[in-house]
Amino acid sequence: MNIEQLLQERSGFKCELCSASENLAVYEVPPDSKANIDDSVLLCETCIEQLNNAAKVDVNHWRCLNDCMWNQTPAVQVLAWRMLSRLSAEGWPQDLLETLYLDDKVLHWAKATVEDQSSENNTKHLDSNGTRLEAGDNVTLIKDLNVKGANFTAKRGSAVRGISLVADNPEHIEGKINGQQIVILTRFVKKMN
Ligand SMILES: [Zn+2]
Repeated sequence: MNIEQLLQERSGFKCELCSASENLAVYEVPPDSKANIDDSVLLCETCIEQLNNAAKVDVNHWRCLNDCMWNQTPAVQVLAWRMLSRLSAEGWPQDLLETLYLDDKVLHWAKATVEDQSSENNTKHLDSNGTRLEAGDNVTLIKDLNVKGANFTAKRGSAVRGISLVADNPEHIEGKINGQQIVILTRFVKKMN
């Protein structure tokens, strides 16, 4: 059986998001789809068009997420999570999102495209100059910082190599100074080139 046939069997010949039964096609979930059944879902034309084109989104169409978010297939959960996130300003999607539990691997996959979307979400870590910081970057401190609980002052100009980003807080990064792992505010650092 090819992928389409496998997906038809899995879905019962229905769009795996909205349950429509016409104009179905295989949709490979970005990014890094290996074009196997686990990375693919069977979707209707309407769902595919709206997934691919934010300008065409009809919020009411996505009431279907209420049901399909409970689907056991990770690829479907990923699409439901992404669409709920995209629509979260509507209110009800945010409520659903809060009840949607994904295991870590699936959540990581769901979030894999978030950075490529608009900058509306404020998860970008920016240094004091507004330069985007990424995990593994080297930064310098632009002022003396008293390190709480460690009894030392990290001097202005100190280098912090191989920072990591605090995922939930765009104002926080972590890095080692004097051998200690500390949390640093992004506005007090400058990215090194
Ligand atoms: Zn659909």
